[in-house]
Amino acid sequence: MNLNSDKFYDFEGFEPVCGLEIHVQLKTKTKLFCSCPREFTNIPNLNICPICVGLPGVLPYPNRQAVILAVRASLLLNMRINRKSFFERKNYFYPDLPKNYQISQYRIPLAEDGFLEIEVNGIKKKIGIQRLHMEEDAGKMIHGEDISYVDFSRSGTPLAEIVTKPDISSPDEAYAFLTKLHKLLVWCDITEGSMEEGNLRCDVNVSVKPRGSGKFGTKVEIKNVNSFRFIKEAIEYEISRQISVIKSGGKIEQETRGYDSVQKKTFIMRSKEYAHDYRYFPEPDILPLYISDDIMEEAKSGIPELPDDMKKRFMSVYGLSQYAADVLTSDRSIALFFEDLTRDFEDKKLVSSFVLEEVMRAINEGIFNINKDEDRKILLDYSKKVLKSIADGVITRNAGKEAFREATTSKIDILQAIEKRKKDISEDLIESAVLQVLNENPKEVERYKSGEKKLIGFFIGEVVKKLEKKADPKVVKSIIEKKLES
Ligand code: ADP
Ligand code: ZN
Ligand code: MG
Repeated sequence: MNLNSDKFYDFEGFEPVCGLEIHVQLKTKTKLFCSCPREFTNIPNLNICPICVGLPGVLPYPNRQAVILAVRASLLLNMRINRKSFFERKNYFYPDLPKNYQISQYRIPLAEDGFLEIEVNGIKKKIGIQRLHMEEDAGKMIHGEDISYVDFSRSGTPLAEIVTKPDISSPDEAYAFLTKLHKLLVWCDITEGSMEEGNLRCDVNVSVKPRGSGKFGTKVEIKNVNSFRFIKEAIEYEISRQISVIKSGGKIEQETRGYDSVQKKTFIMRSKEYAHDYRYFPEPDILPLYISDDIMEEAKSGIPELPDDMKKRFMSVYGLSQYAADVLTSDRSIALFFEDLTRDFEDKKLVSSFVLEEVMRAINEGIFNINKDEDRKILLDYSKKVLKSIADGVITRNAGKEAFREATTSKIDILQAIEKRKKDISEDLIESAVLQVLNENPKEVERYKSGEKKLIGFFIGEVVKKLEKKADPKVVKSIIEKKLES
C-alpha cells in the first residue's frame, strides 16, 4: 500500500513507480585518472592533459581520494562494498568523449544493495539503492549559431553514479530522497553539491501500473532536469500523462523525454530506445580496484556526526525548539558556527535566535561566506561582541541586532556600532524604567513632592534594580529629578 502518495495525489487507481540515477561529482583536488585540477571552470579546455583528452599511449591511474569519497558515500547509503571491483570501457561515439569510450564500472560496481531512509508527511520509508559505481565525466558541447564546440575541462572529473531501486512511489518521495541525499553528501564533504555547476545530475525513470499490480509498466526516462523542484514537477506531469495515455486506450512507449520547466511539460527527445550496445569490456590499462582496510578506515573516519543526530543533540543539550535545531543543522558550517559561538554564553536560546536571524541573514545576503576562514572569523568576532553586550545588559537585544546589521553592511567597526547604541538606548531605557518606578510608587512620589527629598535614594535604588544594576546612578538621579520637577 502506498501511504505517502494517497494523501496528496489522486492517481486514479494507478500506482506510480520511479527510480533515480544520480551522478555525483566528487570533491577531489584532481581528476579521476590524471593530475589536472578537478575544480569547475568556465574557461573552455583550461584543465586538460593528454590523459583526460585521450591521446594514444597514456596510462590512466585511479585517484585514491576519489575512491575514498565513493566508499564514504556507499557507507552512508548502507551499502555492501565490493572489496574487489574493476573498471570497464563503455564504448560510444560522441564529440564530448574524446577517447570514444568512458571508463566506468559495469559488471562489478564499487558497492551494491543499500538504502536511504526518507520521511514524507511524517511517514518513514526506506528507498533501496541498487548500486554505486565510479566513472569519469565526459566533456561538454557548446552549441553556437552554425557550429558546435567541445570543452574538455570537465572530461575525467570523478563521478559516483548512484542508482536507486524502483521504490519511489510519488513525486514527494523523489524530492525528499534527492534533498536528503544532497544534504548528506555535502555534509560529509563528498561533493560540493552546486546544482548550477552540475555537481549533482539526475535522470528520472517513471512508469505507472494498476494499483496493487505486481507487474511494472513500461518506463520512460526523463533526462537533464537540473533542479529538485523541476524533477518533482516533471514526475508529476509524467504520471498524469501516462495515466491519460493508458486510460484512452494507448500504450506507453519506452522513450527518453526532456522537461520544459516553463510550460511544465515533459517532451519527447528520443523515441523507441532499445538497449544500447556499449560493448563493455574490462579496462586493460587499470588494475582491479582493491579496497584496502586503510581506504575503508579513511572513508569511515571522514564521516562526522550526521545532521539528524546533531539536530537531536541540539534539542536535548541546548534546549532548542525542533524548528531552531532544524534550521541550524540545515548546513554543517552553520551548525559548527553555532556550537563555537554558544560555548561562551549561558543563554543558548539567545545565541540560537541571533544565529538564525542575524548571522543567517548576513550569509544569505552574500555579505559573508561561512566556508571562508576569513569571513567566518569576522562573523564569530562580531557575534561574540554583540552577544556579550546583550548578555551584560549594556545594550538591548534589538540594539544589538541593529549594531550587528550596521557593522556588517557598512564599514563601521562593531565596537563603535555597539558604543553608539549603548548611549542612545541606555537613556531611553533609564527613562522608561524611571517612569515605571514612579507609577508603581505613587505614595512615595507624593511624599517626595511634599518635601521628603531623601526619598530620591529609594527611587534610584528601584530603578537600578529594575535595570539589573547596569545603569549609571548619577544619570538615573538626574533623570528622576527631571521627571519629578516637571
Ligand atoms: P536500464 O537497464 O534501462 O538502465 P535499470 O534496471 O538499470 O534499467 O534501471 C534504471 C533505473 O530505472 C533504476 O533507477 C530503476 O530503479 C529504474 N526502473 C527500473 N524499472 C522501472 C520501471 N518499470 N519504472 C520506473 N523505474 C524503473
Ligand atoms: Zn588531465
Ligand atoms: Mg541501467
